[in-house]
Amino acid sequence: MKIICVAKNYLEHAREMDSTAPSEPVFFLKPETALLRNNEPFYYPEFSNEVHYEVELVVRINKMGKHIPVQFAHRYYDQIGIGIDFTARDVQRQLKKAGLPWSKAKAFDFSAPVGNEFLPKTMFSDVQNINFRLDLNGKTVQKGNSSQMIFSIDQLISYISQFITLKMGDLIFTGTPSGVGPIHIGDRLQAYIENRLLLDFEVK
Ligand code: MG
Repeated sequence: MKIICVAKNYLEHAREMDSTAPSEPVFFLKPETALLRNNEPFYYPEFSNEVHYEVELVVRINKMGKHIPVQFAHRYYDQIGIGIDFTARDVQRQLKKAGLPWSKAKAFDFSAPVGNEFLPKTMFSDVQNINFRLDLNGKTVQKGNSSQMIFSIDQLISYISQFITLKMGDLIFTGTPSGVGPIHIGDRLQAYIENRLLLDFEVK
């Protein structure tokens, strides 16, 4: 399986990164080794002094697809979960400045904690109106609603599938709302869809 992450899909977050809304989706990949499951602790990596959280809705692909038209994209996923796109912001800043790819800052081991439980799409009357949030040490630091996405889930699936064949089990991180910030050893992160706690782990 592969993990495809969408960048700058919420205007307020693009702005906080001193960027503007992209005219087409921007995405990058994380390898399977980036997954962190079962609410296991995240160990702060030695190569960074500024790891940031980015809470994101995560879509799980349920069948193989290529060149998927937008109007059929909804058939290619049936579950939505939540995850964190950990980013070594200091490393990313250096790479961006040098015009280099972001992989080192984004794709490192355990940089993609994902909740074990995914919710069936049918639970939501509108997948483009889902509330989600991240609490850091009991205080809400990020809050989003999928209606604020610049590109909808269906548009993302269709766009990505023009370049990369999607396969069953692939995960798409759909972008983070504003409010990203640093984590520290000892922090507890809890991510919710609506009021359901789906991811709960510590930084060690
Ligand atoms: Mg992200």
